[in-house]
Amino acid sequence: MRSWAEINLDNLRHNINILKTIAGDSMLLPAIKADAYGHGIAEVFNVLISEGIKWVGVATFNEAEKLRKLDKATNILVFGPVETEDMRKAIDMNIAFPLTSMDEIDFLNENNLAPRVHLAVDTGMGRIGFSRNSLDEVKRKTEENSKINVEGIFSHLSSADTSPEYTKRQLEDFKKIVEKFPKIKYRHILNSFGSMQFSESKYDIIRPGIILYGGIKKENAFSYDFKPVMALKSRVSFIKKLENNSFISYNRKYEGRAGEKIATVSIGYADGIRRDLTGKGEVVINNRRCRIAGTICMDQLMVSIPEDLEVNVGDTVEFFGENIHIEEVAEKCGTISYEILCGIGQRVTRIYVGEK
Ligand SMILES: *Cc1c(COP(=O)(O)O)cnc(C)c1O
Repeated sequence: MRSWAEINLDNLRHNINILKTIAGDSMLLPAIKADAYGHGIAEVFNVLISEGIKWVGVATFNEAEKLRKLDKATNILVFGPVETEDMRKAIDMNIAFPLTSMDEIDFLNENNLAPRVHLAVDTGMGRIGFSRNSLDEVKRKTEENSKINVEGIFSHLSSADTSPEYTKRQLEDFKKIVEKFPKIKYRHILNSFGSMQFSESKYDIIRPGIILYGGIKKENAFSYDFKPVMALKSRVSFIKKLENNSFISYNRKYEGRAGEKIATVSIGYADGIRRDLTGKGEVVINNRRCRIAGTICMDQLMVSIPEDLEVNVGDTVEFFGENIHIEEVAEKCGTISYEILCGIGQRVTRIYVGEK
């Protein structure tokens, strides 16, 4: 196989068990949007169900629809606004979605619709939802002559990984807001970084995402031992020994020395190996770190092989996984592990290992 993402379902189960201890009496609503952060939404969903998880969150109505076809019982919440044209289908399929604007409320009331909704309130993320000032009107419009079933109320943290002060302000605001809605059954605000730090704000549901997939290094995960679920691998497809000092890859960013061994690997930026790694990326071949040589191409890249390392065509190349943490790769690319995971291309085969 040319290149593949190994998805370790035993590590996924291990992480789910940690999440269960973090959740305690609250329910878990793992975020499995964006193809479960690139891990395969159907496979991850099935493992979650087998571990007794009752709620999942996705970003779009289409993702929810796909899940509903796989399972009738699990509660599915869409995180982002659903277009009015999809609301009837969401109701038919028993999919919960956020209530984010007065226009949505008016549409639902005018059409006498009875959806399951979670009231989105903006406590400082600045993305979607009602401001605190508009909540009296929301309350009135969803209670009087309305069939809307407001079963939940939620907000989203903007800086749980970087600013405890700002996060505490958001949590305080949320607390004041939910006090005004004592009848709403499901209150939730914590994401991964919130869940690891602010147990007093767990309410009824927590919504972890990245930690489910082990996308955070132990040092950044408050000592929780989440295990990386995905490992990205490829193979050496070609090897040469340079006859003269000569350039490697587009635009001559790397000059190899005469005698240097260069391996070509069948993976590139179309597969999710970011071009930002040009000049700084590393891979592991036969238990040794090797440097990526020159510009990452769309479908291939080159690696400089240390003189004393034996490498053959067909040998496995790890980009991240057991030996290189995905957060290390993300840092080199100036981004976060989420973006690397979501960016793993569709043509990279997902291989599932461990208990299905
Ligand atoms: C993606 C998302 C989450 C999960 O976020 P993590 O940072 O991965 O834990 C939770 N809630 C909402 C609304 C989201 O969009």
